[in-house]
Amino acid sequence: MGAKLQALRHLQDIELQLADIRRQLRRKQKMVSAQAAKLESARQALETERNEIKRTQASVDELDLDIKGRTGKINRLREHLNTVRTNREYAAVLAELNNEKADVSRLESRALQMMERVEARTKDFREHQEVERREAERLDQLTAQFEQADRSFAERRAGLEQGRAEAAGQLEPKVLKLFDRVSVRYEGEVMAKVVRTRPGRDEFICEGCYMSLAAERVNALMIRDEVLTCANCGRILCLEQ
Ligand SMILES: [Zn+2]
Repeated sequence: MGAKLQALRHLQDIELQLADIRRQLRRKQKMVSAQAAKLESARQALETERNEIKRTQASVDELDLDIKGRTGKINRLREHLNTVRTNREYAAVLAELNNEKADVSRLESRALQMMERVEARTKDFREHQEVERREAERLDQLTAQFEQADRSFAERRAGLEQGRAEAAGQLEPKVLKLFDRVSVRYEGEVMAKVVRTRPGRDEFICEGCYMSLAAERVNALMIRDEVLTCANCGRILCLEQ
């Protein structure tokens, strides 16, 4: 391999290490984002439950007020019953009294049902609060892990980036541009080896994409230190050492 391709190979070595660091950090960052989304949905569920409990409790309060009013009325009707003069009036007041009593008993059982619902929901709410607390804790852990990884990579990354700049300086601008373009596309895997498919035969494939390569292209590579790309995948071809 000639000097030009050696320089490219060196740059690729650095680039692959940088790509690996980026990948690791990205993976950790993704876990943080996924956990943040999980926590957010736990919080929303909690908020919905909180509102539902409030609403049910408000209905219970309303029912209580209604019951209180009707109970007052029942007491007044009882007193009235003692003062009526005719049987007909007595019957009418008694009927109204019984109606009110029936209403109160119906409202009371509804209020009881709703109270039970409030209690059950409050129990669920507490459990979900615990879930939310655990999710928040997990998010803190993952965030700390990401930050720690970022810090621990910082020094290595700085060194690699300096090395990258130096290696890039050895290349012609045109070649560097090509390198960068392919690097973005394949996450640092810029070079592809030329592989002879059968011993003794002039049949070659690109190791990057496994497509066959024209023999004259490979010959050119064998003769000269040239930057040639695979016509299929675009990677820079190099011969096996
Ligand atoms: Zn290829």
